[in-house]
Formats: sequence, structure tokens, C-alpha cells
Amino acid sequence: MTDSKLNIDRVALEQLLNKRFFYAPSFGIYENVAGLFDFGPTGNALQQNLISLWRQHFVIEEDMLEVDCSIMTPSQVLKTSGHVDKFTDWMCKDTKTGEIFRADHLVEGVLESRIEGDVLARKMADMSVSDGNDKTVATDAASSSKGSNAKKNKKKGGPIVATKLDDSVVEEYRNILAQIDNFDGHGLAGLITKYDIRNPDTGNEVTHPVEFNLMFESNIGPTGHIKGYLRPETAQGQFVNFARLLDFNNQKMPFASAMIGRSFRNEISPRSGLLRVREFTMAEIEHYVDPLRKQHPRFSEAADIKVPLLPGSVQLEGKSQPIVMTIGEAVEKKIIDNQTLGYFLGRIYTYLIIIGIKPELLRFRQHLQNEMAHYACDCWDAEIKTSYGWIECVGCADRSAYDLTVHSNFTGEKLCVRENLSEPRVYEKLVCEPNSRVFGPKLKKAAKPVQEHLASLSADELTSVKNALAKDGKAVVKLSGTTADGEYEITPDMVSIENKTITEHVREYIPNVIEPSFGIGRILYSLIEHSFNVRADDEQRAVLSFKPVVAPFKCLVLPLSGHPSFEKPLLDVARRLRSNGVPARIDDAASASIGRRYARNDELGTPFAITVDFQTADDNTVTLRERDTTKQIRGSVEEIVTLVKDLVSGNTTWDDVLASHQLVNTAAASS
Ligand code: AMP
Repeated sequence: MTDSKLNIDRVALEQLLNKRFFYAPSFGIYENVAGLFDFGPTGNALQQNLISLWRQHFVIEEDMLEVDCSIMTPSQVLKTSGHVDKFTDWMCKDTKTGEIFRADHLVEGVLESRIEGDVLARKMADMSVSDGNDKTVATDAASSSKGSNAKKNKKKGGPIVATKLDDSVVEEYRNILAQIDNFDGHGLAGLITKYDIRNPDTGNEVTHPVEFNLMFESNIGPTGHIKGYLRPETAQGQFVNFARLLDFNNQKMPFASAMIGRSFRNEISPRSGLLRVREFTMAEIEHYVDPLRKQHPRFSEAADIKVPLLPGSVQLEGKSQPIVMTIGEAVEKKIIDNQTLGYFLGRIYTYLIIIGIKPELLRFRQHLQNEMAHYACDCWDAEIKTSYGWIECVGCADRSAYDLTVHSNFTGEKLCVRENLSEPRVYEKLVCEPNSRVFGPKLKKAAKPVQEHLASLSADELTSVKNALAKDGKAVVKLSGTTADGEYEITPDMVSIENKTITEHVREYIPNVIEPSFGIGRILYSLIEHSFNVRADDEQRAVLSFKPVVAPFKCLVLPLSGHPSFEKPLLDVARRLRSNGVPARIDDAASASIGRRYARNDELGTPFAITVDFQTADDNTVTLRERDTTKQIRGSVEEIVTLVKDLVSGNTTWDDVLASHQLVNTAAASS
């Protein structure tokens, strides 16, 4: 499905990233373990810049409460949150070799390969190169796309075999692919059987999918008696601190907490470089909001932002063309569930554009019902188009009151908001009151959780208990997710269930949580792909056109040659840049020509270069080169340093600089 993938020379890009040490497999000099990566100086600087802009755009701009919580998490916390039972993917095995696959990826890969085989067969028929046999393995000549080779044709779904399919079959496959995330294990098993999905490498059948929990388990303490997990997300640490955070915020709602840190997932099949790894940096926001008032105070600032949306209803029709509309319109039409969710989609969009993601390669896709996490009531992913296809880089979910409720139920800690009402609220309510002389002694330790359970029942549920007590002389209460799970018998002497007039001066509620959740590694890799290009006049010369604000290194300082007289002014320029807050790198490798040194810094994405030459000694001037245009201007050291500072901080642009300065004739020097 080539139109859903960005067309870049990934092999060349990967070579560049490796050569310039953006990142590399961890512990590479030992046997490589898939899904673990180390960032080198370039990748690390890029990641730090993305994080610092994130902090500026969200935490500082919105006065969020940033925290830093433990990675090692006691198992009960994740049992309560539902991760121990539900944080799983579906896995199947080659019945003969035992090779393991993530079931949805296997189905997806095989169906995509079949569709591509169909496209190829039709192309070959058009080119009349088919020998009448409609089944041919792809050849370089037939798949004429630039730079294609046999290795590239080997897909995750197996080699592409030119096989013409019926139009209806292609339609059926596309329909499944558009909603692949909607299939559970049972659904995937059905697809595997119906479409005879096999291990693409061996042709062997695969087993029915089984659930595999993605969390890394560990033991805490010398005796190992406390079970724990490396956190799979940063959210739970924030939720369990909710009462402290609310207190810190002077009980004011709405507000948000935020955390940036590492998360761990034991992915079944890590792949695609940084896109599916086992340890990665997340940046997560938990925005706490009154469930009755999901408006956002700054909604008007996001309402006019136009975004491409792929709602669930469109996907279920098997379509993948997004609808472009403003956030305001999408919330009004209830395509996006509420203002706060819409507000954050707008903020996510602006963040991604600010760092340099191309708007035409960005969309928001709504989760389908089965795909939605166990806690969510609406969820959108910011997906970025890469050479691997559309990749989920940011999830934005309305987690409802789920997390705070379950943690509160289990621990007995109140994780709620108390709001003073201006007018008391008076109403009739069916209330269950325990008879303390009988209730406590009979239920002992379970008395409190049973009482809390009865107090949490709806009017209908409480009426059923009352009726059972009247009719059968007893009622059974079932507790789960508490410290005293089990069944308890209630008898009429233990409680009174009557209608009462209630006068409330305080409203108590558990906030809902809107959670934007960013995978920094995925964003970083997508940004690299969007920034990657080659010089129009020389395909061998690659450039990473990072915006100055995210570029790992802002300014290169270099001498024209290895002449000793350049050393002093070189150090002076670098010192001035640093004292102006501009990270500068000197490249004085005498063995490389100036052209080569410019070229290798183009590969690092360094936007500006200051060159010290023979004229510097005469009049204390230097040249300033911009990476993308390769144009140069000349000015005094002082002026150029100030210009670079303004360019890097966004106070001026290169176009403005060009408009007010004469170009240096670089015909003599290599650019
Ligand atoms: P989730 O909690 O599954 O919605 O994930 C939140 C974000 O984390 C996603 O939008 C991704 O950007 C990122 N993410 C999730 N799993 C991985 C992974 N295995 N490798 C890299 N990034 C991931």
C-alpha cells in the first residue's frame, strides 16, 4: 500500500543515522537484543530539544504540575489499574518452527503483501511483460520504482508475488486493513483461518492467537517477596498522587499533571528501528476535569485550528481519507467527544508542526470500539506518515474516572474533589444505613468495604437489595477490586434502607482524566524522515533540514584551512556563541576540505556555519552559511554571533537576513 507510505531512500537514511551516531542498538558489541537502543550525541541532543520544547509548549504554557515518579511499580498498583490482566497483545506461533508473531501484524503484513502483489500483477499486465502465467515473483525490472531491489521486495508479509486478485477480494482486504485494530484474538483467529494466513517465510500454518502480557516482571527486595513491574506508562504514578496534587493546586479544578520518563514494554516483535522498542521515553499529561463540565477554559485558542480527522465511522466504511475541519466544528458535531479532548488535539497538532512535522503527513485517527483501551471512552491518535506507513505517535484518550476510581476503591483513599455549593442541593434518596451493633460484629474486617459498596450502589441496585431482604430475608453482596474481595450475606437486622431527604452543601466527585500521551522516540524518528532530503545537484549529499529550534547542534565553527593563524579567532567565535547560549561545535579537522566539513554537518542537521578565513585577520569579519540554501553572507564577528543567536531563538529568519545582506560569492570556495 505504497500510497500510505512516505517514499524516501530508507537505506541511505539508516546509513546516515548510523554514521553520525544518532542512535544504535544497545550493547552492540555483545549479542544484540532487539528493541533496545542507545542515543549518541546527535540523537540525544535532538531528543533533549524535543523534550525541552514539549516542556515549554505544555508544562510551562499551561502551568502543569510536573512530577517524576518511580519506574519500579509494585504489582498491586498495576493489578488495580487493570494492566496485569489486560495489558496484552495477541501472539501466534509457527506450528513447526515455533517462530513467534504478533497476530495483528502478521495478518496485516500478509494482506498488504497480497494487495501489493495484485498491483504488481496489474502493472505487469499493462506492460505486457507477463508471459501469460499470472503468478510471478517480483523482479527488479517489473517493480521499477527507483532504487528497488530484491531485498526491498522482501516484506514483513513475505515476498511480493505478482498475483492478480478479484476486485472484490482487494476491497475485502482493504476493508480489513482499515480496521485491523478492531479485531480481538477471536477475530484474528477467524481472519487467519478464513484467509489462510501462514508464516510468510516458511509457509507453515500458525497457531490460534493467545494473549501475551507486555509488562516486564521483577522482584523487589533481597528475598524477592514483593512482586513488581517496570512501568509500562508513566500515568499510574500521577494518579496515585492525585490527592497531593489537588492539594498542591489549592483544590482548584481543572488542572493537569505531567511526567517525562522511561517506560518499558516487552514487545512481541520489536521492529522498525525506534518505532517499536522495549524501552522508550514517554511524555504524558493527565488533565483532571469535572465530568459535568468538560469545557476547557482556553478552548477558543484551539477552536480555529484545522486538523485532518479520521473518525471511527469513516474507518468502518473501509475508508482512509481524513476529513479536514476545525477543532471547533468537530467538537460541535460531536465527532470529538468534548472540548477538553478537542483542545488537546489542537495543542498536539501545533506542537508537532512547531518541531517540523509536515502537516500533510499528519492526521488524527479515532480508535475503534474494540481497539480502545479498557479505560477509555474516546481516544484519538496523532498518526504521522513515514516510510513504514502511518505511525501512532501520540495517543489522546478520555480515560473517564476509571483510574482514580479503581485506585480509590482498592486503597480506601479518597481520590476525589470536594466542591462547596453556592446553593445547597436538597433531594430525596434511597439510603442504606448500617445498624452498627450488628453490622460491624458480623462482617468484621469486611464491614468497611461492604458499607462502601452499599453506599456506592445506584437507586435501582439498592432497591433490589431492599426487595431481596424483604422477600428472602437476606441479600448477597459481591466485592471485587477491594481489600476484602468475596461474597457477604446481609440480613434485615444489619441495615435499614429508606428514602431520606438529603441536603448537600458540598458536591463530591471523581474527576475524569484526559490524557495526551507522547512517544518521544517515534516523534523523533518521524521528524528525521520528514527532514531528510538530498541536494538537488548531488544525490550522494544528504541533508537533515531540522528547524534551528530542534537541531541537535545549532552552529558549526570552522577554519577555512588548517592555517595556524585561524586558531585564535576560531576559539573566540565559539566562546562568544556559547556565552550567548548558542551550542557551538568546532570542526577543524585539517584533513577534510571545507566542502566535506560543510557536508558532514549538513548530515547532522546543523543549520548554520561560521567560517574563519584569511580576511578575518584583516577586518575581524567571518562568513555565515545557512544549511538548506547553502548561501553565505559576511559580517563582523559581533554581528554574525548576534544574528546566529536571533536565528536560533526564532527572533529572525534566514529570509530576513538575506533581504538585508549581500551574498558572498562562494564560486571560489566549495559550499
Ligand atoms: P499507548 O499508551 O499505547 O497509547 O502509547 C502511547 C505512546 O507511546 C504511543 O503513541 C507511542 O508514541 C508510544 N509507544 C507505545 N509503544 C511503543 C513502543 N513499543 N515503542 C516506541 N514507542 C511506543
